[in-house]
Amino acid sequence: RGALVLSGDEPSTAGVADALARIASDVALAQETAALTEEIHRRRHERRFRALIEDSDDIVVVLGPSGSTSFVSPAVTRLLGYGEDELAWMALPDLVVTEDLTVFETLVAAPGERLPGEVRLYHRDGSYRWFEIVVSDLRGDPEVGGTVITAREITERKLAAQRIGESEARFRALVQHSSDLVAVADRRGQIGYISPSVERVLGIRPDVLIGSDLVALLHPDDRGALHGVLGQLAGSPDRPYDTELRLRAGAGGWRSFEVTVTDLSDVSAVGGIVFNAHDITRRKALEDDLRHHALHDGLTGLPNRVLFADRIGQALARRGGERTAVIVIDLDEFRTINDSVGHSVGDEILKVLAFRLRQFLRAGDTAARLGGDEFGILVEGVESRETVLSIAQRVLESVRHPVEHAGLEIRTDASIGIVFHDDCADPSPEILLRNADLAMYAAKSAGKGRTSVFAESMHADAFERLALKADLDRVVERDELEVHYQPIVDLANRRLVGFEALMRWNHPSRGLVSPGTFIPLAEETGAIVAMGRWMLHTALGQLAVWNAAFPELPLSLSVNLSPLQLDDDGIVRDVTEALAAARIDPRRVTVEVTESAAITTDLRRERLDQIAATGVGIAADDFGAGYASYAALSELPFTTVKIDISLIRGLADPAHAARAAAQVGAIIEMAGRTGLTVVAEGIESEEQAQILTTLGCERGQGFLFARPLPVRAAEDLVVHPMGVAGRR
Ligand code: C2E
Ligand code: CA
Ligand code: CA
Repeated sequence: RGALVLSGDEPSTAGVADALARIASDVALAQETAALTEEIHRRRHERRFRALIEDSDDIVVVLGPSGSTSFVSPAVTRLLGYGEDELAWMALPDLVVTEDLTVFETLVAAPGERLPGEVRLYHRDGSYRWFEIVVSDLRGDPEVGGTVITAREITERKLAAQRIGESEARFRALVQHSSDLVAVADRRGQIGYISPSVERVLGIRPDVLIGSDLVALLHPDDRGALHGVLGQLAGSPDRPYDTELRLRAGAGGWRSFEVTVTDLSDVSAVGGIVFNAHDITRRKALEDDLRHHALHDGLTGLPNRVLFADRIGQALARRGGERTAVIVIDLDEFRTINDSVGHSVGDEILKVLAFRLRQFLRAGDTAARLGGDEFGILVEGVESRETVLSIAQRVLESVRHPVEHAGLEIRTDASIGIVFHDDCADPSPEILLRNADLAMYAAKSAGKGRTSVFAESMHADAFERLALKADLDRVVERDELEVHYQPIVDLANRRLVGFEALMRWNHPSRGLVSPGTFIPLAEETGAIVAMGRWMLHTALGQLAVWNAAFPELPLSLSVNLSPLQLDDDGIVRDVTEALAAARIDPRRVTVEVTESAAITTDLRRERLDQIAATGVGIAADDFGAGYASYAALSELPFTTVKIDISLIRGLADPAHAARAAAQVGAIIEMAGRTGLTVVAEGIESEEQAQILTTLGCERGQGFLFARPLPVRAAEDLVVHPMGVAGRR
């Protein structure tokens, strides 16, 4: 639209007006044509633009001046799954993954920078895709009039990069944290390459090692192994060889490796011998630990039977002709200790004894725990038998030394068996151990607390013991037991005051078996309880007969009690029943127990008190044999003390007389103060009897007066109750 205005002094003529009208019309026409052309042009442009962006793989979004979406290219449907209609009411930022919003907003806020940014856009299915985004400012462009966002999908590229990153990280981690080493060395052992993991594994920087000698890292004992492998490699270089090597760690100590060695000298990229080493230190430590456990006793830490046998085997092989001895130590009555003071205290005692045993070892000797309460010592290359015997003697003394625990003084004793390899026909670890065991059993049956040296005859003895043990079971019902009576005399006038009842076994085929042989066996099988009960009834019955027949002679009688009888619930009843059945005054009866057996457990003490309460006397038998506890004499309900035969022997033996006399004197003195009757046992000579009388001993028993006698012979002495001395 336009207007042409003419002004003048005179009115315009019709001709002018006409001409003006024509001009105006031409101008209007021209104007219209131009506008039309322009419209056509614009339309064509727009079509071309649309076609361009509609076919594009990129999403193109135009944001209007207010920030609202004015155009979205159809690629959005293809790439993100939304329909155009859906996007109409959805703002673009809604599609951006939250973490990427800042990036997105920065891009939009500064359009035209044209630096691409990467953001993730949500797909309609909830997953996202990566896009590279370029923002252009086309607000000034009349044809666009907004901000144009072009988003090109780069998901594939992103994922690929991410995968590479991950695998790189994985590889890095593998190499850095690997406990494997890779080294390449030349034939002389010079290291050309070593993997960085060496710093982690051995604590040595790789550059320090490169150029150095591999052998310098190696444990001296493993050099042979390395040379062996290299030798094999030289022989046939086409295959890998495995070995185990120890390498020195930077901080000291050794680490173990499982090593595969491959010759890659001919491979130009490697050009050397390759060592692939896998650290197995931890596994080795576990294995060593297992092996230690398999070969050692958990409680005392001493080698166990398996390792002990192995060491004996080594000693036999090494020593050849030289003397090797095995000492087996078995604690006497350890079960009783366990039962009375408890297993944990029992364990403590074993530990203490194990510790003491170690003290006797000379370099190269081995102490072991062979079983519950059985220990072993292997003595190698000894000059003389006496050396071994003196070791055994010292062991015995150390075992006897009381163990203090929680205010208790616990005493143990042991039986010791010794075997010398040259006493065995065909020495092997098994044979040495078995023979040492036999010797130990011999010591036990000889009365415990002893040492005995293996002799071939012990095999026969052991066999016989086995046979006897089987027979012992029915000894009472078969009526094979007898009682012999040994007189006890008044030393001052040699008059008979009573008897000690001693058990005899009249074996159907072997004849009279001595109690020294069968009592320990009966204690092992437990048959002693029934036999002891039989003994009480029989002996007390006999005393009743004598007392009735010879009322003018008030005889007394001693009966031995095995410690195992004291462990039996029925013992107090057995005593009272025997007293009742025989109807005799309990004061005429004494039971004999060794003081060491009596003090071992509280239960035994209790039962001894109960027996004492019946009025029966209690004798401390074999007092002075081994370790005598004087305290026990006053603490327990003893009425009599029987001085052991060993001290009586000593009295007449110049080498021991002084000590024996001092001991006997002390016992008599102590007994006098506490009101105990003293009986000296095993008096064989007049000289001993004299000394005892001088020392003030009241009573005696021994072959000098009479041996243990069968009932008839004993009765003769009762009938003629003169001095016994002449009637041997
Ligand atoms: P014990 O209780 O010490 O008995 C004394 C032992 O010394 C007896 O041996 C006796 O014969 C022996 N003897 C006596 N005087 C002399 C002597 O002058 N010289 C020598 N060398 N020996 C003498 P026995 O009868 O062989 O008994 C051995 C052991 O057997 C007894 O030692 C005792 O511990 C045990 N015993 C015997 N009978 C029984 C029993 O009925 N029950 C229990 N539990 N043990 C018994
Ligand atoms: Ca006795
Ligand atoms: Ca005795």
